[in-house]
Amino acid sequence: MQTDVIVVGVGGMGSAALWQLARRGVRAIGIERWDVPHAYGSSHGVSRIIRLPYYEDPDYVPLLRRAYTLWREIEAATGRELLVTTGSVDASPPDDPLFGGALASARLHDLAHEVLTGAEVNARFPGYALPADYRAVFQPDGGLVASERAIVAHVEAAQALGAEVRAREPMLHWQARGGGVRVTTSKGVYDADRLILTTGAWIGEHAEPLAGRAVPERQVLAWLQPLAPALYAPNRFPVFNLQVDEGRYYGLPIYDVPGFKFGRYHHRGETSGAIDQLSREPDADDESLLRSFAERYFPQGAGATLALRACMFTNTADEHFIVDHHPDHANVVLASPCSGHGYKFCSVIGEILADLATGDGRTRHDIGFLRLDRPALAA
Ligand SMILES: Cc1cc2nc3c(=O)[nH]c(=O)nc-3n(C[C@H](O)[C@H](O)[C@H](O)COP(=O)(O)OP(=O)(O)OC[C@H]3O[C@@H](n4cnc5c(N)ncnc54)[C@H](O)[C@@H]3O)c2cc1C
Repeated sequence: MQTDVIVVGVGGMGSAALWQLARRGVRAIGIERWDVPHAYGSSHGVSRIIRLPYYEDPDYVPLLRRAYTLWREIEAATGRELLVTTGSVDASPPDDPLFGGALASARLHDLAHEVLTGAEVNARFPGYALPADYRAVFQPDGGLVASERAIVAHVEAAQALGAEVRAREPMLHWQARGGGVRVTTSKGVYDADRLILTTGAWIGEHAEPLAGRAVPERQVLAWLQPLAPALYAPNRFPVFNLQVDEGRYYGLPIYDVPGFKFGRYHHRGETSGAIDQLSREPDADDESLLRSFAERYFPQGAGATLALRACMFTNTADEHFIVDHHPDHANVVLASPCSGHGYKFCSVIGEILADLATGDGRTRHDIGFLRLDRPALAA
């Protein structure tokens, strides 16, 4: 089969790229190893945080602004609720880079925000029980993206414009061929002018320059039954990023699953080059690590366990994304699965991938800081 662009990996990033290609009139085929959506990759677990005052690096903020616009566009195109505003809290001890970075981003980009003490956060949002002397940036536009539903929405909208999706059909390998690419799957052979690789935690197996530079890591998410559910409703409980003595955590209000949802960055430090060897089954140690955090900092949310789910981060050395052309093949475009903070960007990364895989291969977005050849990723 011959087409313009093949997208391999129809998860968060790949589904968004498909829609962006289809809405430009580009013929595109998406190839997915599992179902659309599924629970073996990085995008399952119902929801993901979106937040503007980016403590990781203020350069992400212009991308985030565009991401918000595109989330609203895909909502309008499909009639599905995908982005729910709750406000966001980025909190830590006063001298920690989490609070400092969020504040610097908010100031640099003139974002609406308030600086609150931990005590003020607890008074305004009684689901929280932060140390009183902590500092927090509260930003009113933060919220959550319904991540699995957004994959469905992007695929649905892409299909309506002529894109095709083949699920349960793993890519076995790809090769540059003439001026184009050939993708061989478990079921057939596809030729195209260009290729987008969005194979998530498996991308190191498909793009040699990312092998060893994008390292999969097992994570676990928990949902606990709140003792006071009203305090954890989306209109009472902002999403959070929180640096505490025990590590860096994130959390979200009740949404679809009737529980307070949260997790720990780099949960138990379980990394592997062999992604399929990382356990997808949460265990008692996962549960007790997560419960002890909630009991200390969100006691009104720490009732009985409702659900636990394992999921995959894929980290680079500097924890920033890689979005670039393949260094050896200008018609192959790569997006790493984004070091545990990429879902909120899927809508704009889909647009960037479509830019890189069409026309002159350039994008108007400033993604220089996401280049593959940046010094922090040198072998
Ligand atoms: C527990 C957890 C919490 C997170 N929280 C947040 C958050 O709050 N906010 C945020 O912004 N980000 C968050 N992230 C990060 C975010 O979810 C990821 O950055 C994002 O989901 C990555 O999307 P992706 O499309 O790269 O990967 P995926 O959605 O996993 O898609 C990759 C796809 O490629 C497919 N594939 C692989 N190999 C092949 C093959 N050979 N052939 C065909 N298809 C193939 C896979 O089956 C998969 O469907 C979190 C991640 C985790 C794990």
